[in-house]
Amino acid sequence: MLNQGLGSWPARRARKTPDRIAVVHEDQEITYRALHQRVLRLAHALRALGVARGDRVAYLGPNHPAFLETLFAAGALGAVFVPLNTRLTAQELTYNLSDSGSTVLVHGPEHAAPAATAAADAGVRHRIARAPDTADTLDYDGLLAGAGTEPLDEAVAPDDPCMIMYTSGTTGRPKGAVLSHANIIWNSVNVLVDTDLAGDEVTLVVAPLFHTAALNMTCLPTFLKGGRAVLLGAFDAEQVLEVIERRRVTYMFGVPTMYDALAARPRWPTADLSSLRTLCCGGAPVPARTIDTYLARGLAFSQGYGMTEASPGVLFLDREQTSAKAGSAGVPHFFTDTRVVRPDGHEAAPGERGEILVSGPNVMAGYWNRPADTRAAVTDDGWLRTGDVARTDDDGYAYVVDRVKDMFVSGGENVYPAEVEAALLTHPAVRECAVVGVPHDVWGEVGHAVLVLEPGARAGAEEILAHVRPRLAKYKIPRSLVFADSLPRTASGKIVKAAVRASCVHP
Ligand code: ATP
Ligand code: MG
Repeated sequence: MLNQGLGSWPARRARKTPDRIAVVHEDQEITYRALHQRVLRLAHALRALGVARGDRVAYLGPNHPAFLETLFAAGALGAVFVPLNTRLTAQELTYNLSDSGSTVLVHGPEHAAPAATAAADAGVRHRIARAPDTADTLDYDGLLAGAGTEPLDEAVAPDDPCMIMYTSGTTGRPKGAVLSHANIIWNSVNVLVDTDLAGDEVTLVVAPLFHTAALNMTCLPTFLKGGRAVLLGAFDAEQVLEVIERRRVTYMFGVPTMYDALAARPRWPTADLSSLRTLCCGGAPVPARTIDTYLARGLAFSQGYGMTEASPGVLFLDREQTSAKAGSAGVPHFFTDTRVVRPDGHEAAPGERGEILVSGPNVMAGYWNRPADTRAAVTDDGWLRTGDVARTDDDGYAYVVDRVKDMFVSGGENVYPAEVEAALLTHPAVRECAVVGVPHDVWGEVGHAVLVLEPGARAGAEEILAHVRPRLAKYKIPRSLVFADSLPRTASGKIVKAAVRASCVHP
């Protein structure tokens, strides 16, 4: 096979395990043989539309087999896949489509309106829709039906670009990380080594596939082993429990709030979870109470820290360590290395804080069309600056503290808002919170907190501050505290600290 990239995976799987089921969606089950045939048809159809090596093909829609078919078909042609976040506005989509220079947009019926606007504004040449409702779009199923299944002959090398994935835009405009086939493959290998995923894996994909975690930590490692991926379109805790039982799910990935939502369902105590082997949690540390709830059911968490630019796995905590190293994001994945570096450039000693740097075959070479950002993020010898602060313990386990950008200095002391937020969250009335540093005449900067209370809960600012005083050094205690109905978040649910800061009236 000339194609050494991701686009060849369906063909390779069809050669080895044609009759195994690759993808389950609602009542549809697609074998690897059928997936391979559908990918070939789509690739031929895209080629007939003019898509060639290096061209960008974008996808917009909830979890659906068409997402994966478009990814593999683009890869079969040596084209570059651009997954788009379904929560973006038409204007934001236009930015991603024009920035990536996508020539084709594949989308579902759910997003026909913003897709039409954004594609027109960004000058996208072809729009392909599942169930098209307007004359100017091509019909996804019609294209597949009309295309052939001859083998494709495109040569693709491991270092060729595979996808452009946009970062969440938490600290600025989203940046397109160019991930090569090798980046994606090595990340999958890291996941397989560290989680023991097997050929009989039944993987629940409930986080959105356009997020790097769902696609690269969950779905693709499963395909590499020939397991099956069960796709759910949206997170519904009741449905997730039902699907775990009915499909005998063995592996799933989620953020901590998803696991809390499952455990809060009335049917949780009687749900049959006996099929589950691996629960993975990422994006934020798993709270101790969540760990205890799952341990009581005999289930331990594997946890991770990562970022889009690293495809994304960087640190990983084995499930054996769930309790012993609670709060830690673990040690680097098998083929990946990290350093923790102080602001003066020296390695941080155990216990000292510093920025995490990462290197390995899963780390991107650079951002799309942003040479200055690439130079700022990747050192000459290939270390990626994560912009995150961590400390390690004596065993080398890393604890992610906060982002460098969110740290502030109060009276000469560094304050990491995440630590203050964690303390505020221990008050039972506090549902969500965000802490930022704001300018102050005497202390340089002081903390400002915005709180969202639990529905129906009552607590005044003074009561909450009294609650955190014994938990935090004085310079960390917020000087002002306000209540809000919600926090400003990005399309992927992360708090936009710049907006929180802008909303603060000088304390
Ligand atoms: P942008 O780079 O556009 O500002 P972003 O950094 O939020 O957005 P992502 O690549 O989706 O975009 O997120 C990666 C970031 O998520 C990490 O740099 C880190 O700040 C945070 N993160 C990921 N995993 C963890 C974890 N286990 N604990 C704490 N923070 C985490
Ligand atoms: Mg980032």
